[in-house]
Amino acid sequence: MSHPSRHASNLDRTNRTVTSQPPDDSLPGSGRLTQVSFHAAGWCRQSARLAGRPDRGSIRFHAVFVRIEHPTFGTHLIDTGYGPGYLDAIRGFPESILGRLLPTTIGPERSPDEVLRRAGVPLDSIGSILISHFHGDHVGGLDRFPNVRLAARGIAYETPERRGRLGRLMMGYVRELVPSDFAERVDRIDESEFVAGVGLLDGFRVRDHFGDGSLWWVDLPGHAAGHVGFLLRTNDEAIFYVVDACWDVPSTLAGRPMPFVSRRVQFDARAYQATRVRLKAWSERYGRRPIACHCHETLARVADLPD
Ligand SMILES: [Zn+2]
Repeated sequence: MSHPSRHASNLDRTNRTVTSQPPDDSLPGSGRLTQVSFHAAGWCRQSARLAGRPDRGSIRFHAVFVRIEHPTFGTHLIDTGYGPGYLDAIRGFPESILGRLLPTTIGPERSPDEVLRRAGVPLDSIGSILISHFHGDHVGGLDRFPNVRLAARGIAYETPERRGRLGRLMMGYVRELVPSDFAERVDRIDESEFVAGVGLLDGFRVRDHFGDGSLWWVDLPGHAAGHVGFLLRTNDEAIFYVVDACWDVPSTLAGRPMPFVSRRVQFDARAYQATRVRLKAWSERYGRRPIACHCHETLARVADLPD
């Protein structure tokens, strides 16, 4: 039998089939994105079992982030992945606990700005960064984009900001990762901006980002305060990027329960489980698969995955 961690890693590498996501006309708005690209900046090691997978050993949790191109509004990112600043931010106690629980690797060449540069994306073309939630593997690279506008749901950062240092840490929120001029740069999204979704997003609370139906914020509660996913529409695809609403799509769609420890680390375990059940129902209703940040299925879409 092969070494367990090698076994799980090999699973990540061999699954290179992009799951098909047909386009959608059931949502309002005729706007479409011209491109949706998946990138990865750093990774941490996670137990395959705690990720919800049947495999033993550990797997890489790649910090995937997304670049979208809009024909009118230009280039924007969803999250940043890790950046080198993350390791500095968690050096002291008690934040160092995060590094012990989830050993993280970020080479200088893997910081999100470098990844984008190599992909031929001029950094000054980035209009804004949409933040799904404030965990280090999603905002750990914000300091690499010092002048870029940010968009975030108010409750996603105000909830942890109301807690003490330990309380914030329990929520996976490291204040040092939030830029010092955050308040001036952020477009704060209020809860009143979310409305009941229709069509493909029936049953979800949603917000139309550009006002043309091309990019939707989707409320996916449980994993972190104010956690959201995104529905991304191009002419060829409608991609439901559910970020961390689930870690492993196959086990979510199979209805496999998460291990106790994995449920305990969620912001709201009950809401998290309810969201997973809703994603399963969504998948069955529409015959589609969601795409999750850390799921091995997503890696087929990441062009420049590190060795
Ligand atoms: Zn997260």
